[in-house]
Amino acid sequence: MKVTVDRTLCDGNGVCMGIAPEVFDIDDDLNLHVLDEIPNDPDVHARVRQSITSCPLLALTLVEG
Ligand code: SF4
Repeated sequence: MKVTVDRTLCDGNGVCMGIAPEVFDIDDDLNLHVLDEIPNDPDVHARVRQSITSCPLLALTLVEG
């Protein structure tokens, strides 16, 4: 599993960071940083999936594999 962000869509609203702060971080300029593109922990996996479905701008994509 790998998380990718479409930066042309993301506006830095932080919804994903609220759900999975281990993976998503918004800086002071509202730029999203993916801290761990390939998280191993199953709990983090689950919350990354929740972040992806919760992103209001559909900016997150999960690449399985
Ligand atoms: S929830 Fe979506 S739009 Fe909001 S910061 Fe995360 S990736 Fe960007």
